[in-house]
Amino acid sequence: MLDTAQSLIKRAAKILDLDQETTQAILKANAEHKFDIELQSGKKFQAYRVQHNNKRGPYKGGIRFHPQVDYDEVRALATLMTMKTAAVSLPMGGGKGGIAVNPKELDKKELEELSRAFVKHLHPHIGPDKDVPAPDVNTNAQIIDWMVNEYENQTEDTSHASFTGKSIKNGGSLGRDAATGRGGVVALAEYLKLIGKNDQEFTMAVQGFGNVGSFFAKIAQSNHPKWKLVAVSDSSATIYEPAGLDAKELDEFKTKKGGKFADFPRGKKLAEDKLISLDVDILALAALENSVTDKNVKQVKANIVVELANGPINIPAQDYLTNQGVSILPDIIANSGGVIVSYLEWLQNKNGEHWKEEQVNKRLENCIQKAVKEMFEIAKNKKISLKEAAFVLALKRLTSS
Ligand code: NAD
Repeated sequence: MLDTAQSLIKRAAKILDLDQETTQAILKANAEHKFDIELQSGKKFQAYRVQHNNKRGPYKGGIRFHPQVDYDEVRALATLMTMKTAAVSLPMGGGKGGIAVNPKELDKKELEELSRAFVKHLHPHIGPDKDVPAPDVNTNAQIIDWMVNEYENQTEDTSHASFTGKSIKNGGSLGRDAATGRGGVVALAEYLKLIGKNDQEFTMAVQGFGNVGSFFAKIAQSNHPKWKLVAVSDSSATIYEPAGLDAKELDEFKTKKGGKFADFPRGKKLAEDKLISLDVDILALAALENSVTDKNVKQVKANIVVELANGPINIPAQDYLTNQGVSILPDIIANSGGVIVSYLEWLQNKNGEHWKEEQVNKRLENCIQKAVKEMFEIAKNKKISLKEAAFVLALKRLTSS
């Protein structure tokens, strides 16, 4: 994973003709923290925080609780955060953290103890003007609320700007839940406008129907009725319905009732890995990294692919699609809505403000539209892919003095 992130940076550095020293400086993390956490029960866990780059502002990036968390993954995700915050021009840097733990094997008290222990160890290195972590896989507003409280206990900082992704009553921002999906819709709409296709009708398939995929599908359906949702998948199945699916109904079934798509009462059921091969115009990937690789890329029929997950298409598959004339809207811009609203949460906390959801959404929209336009211009002028252009855009910002 780190190799992929670094290859993309090196490719962009070559396009920009950057010297070796400058490129190496971007690849290297500023600081890395690795430590053990031992709970009162005697259970021990490895914890990490990688602070990759803070040239543009405090490090920013989530904390993941997952058994497979390791240095390689945290380094890669921290590197991508640096590129993401720069691509969308936030005054923040890139970082990432994690604990190698399966949180489902801990009870609530142990989870709180673990979350607080992470902050007890790390508090001298983080804070509103140094490093502002957020939730990620298997971490949520409750965990972040414990962390903020522990940070306050350790430092007496009461701004609540030390972490983002807090509960609303604890200083979280309205609009955060939907932000990544919403940002994906804004990015796609802006791109269609730039290529003169915003008035056309499209069919669309969405892989993964969790937080990102479900909000993407719901917001797309309500804001862009000409984008017809014909397929969705989760880890159990693909639902295919050429006449169109109702994103709200799917969300109701999956999120509210906890259903599996294999049991959804309507549409044709296919294997979960069949979604990418359907004959649709737009394919949105909102499940996992590496879901399209050199092994299955030839099945893709869509002309536009939106990377809502982090790194859902490996580099050989990206190159193949680009050579076939497929447009890939890159993750560092297409899924940046979450970090943009995290930044807006931090800003509200620093200024002691609480914004209305419309205000948050408008700022999110402006930020992504600007980044898509800039990426598009670079791709056009340099005759490179959108992915390369997004990395060039980020790297330009990171290397300008
Ligand atoms: P989530 O866990 O809420 O949802 C993931 C969804 O993918 C689930 O519906 C799951 O069933 C589905 N899935 C898993 N394996 C699948 C498979 N093989 N085929 C089809 N579906 C499958 O996660 P999320 O928060 O929606 O995040 C999705 C991706 O977006 C992740 O890669 C995450 O790192 C990335 N991301 C999330 C955010 C955010 O704000 N949540 C921000 C940036 C990037």
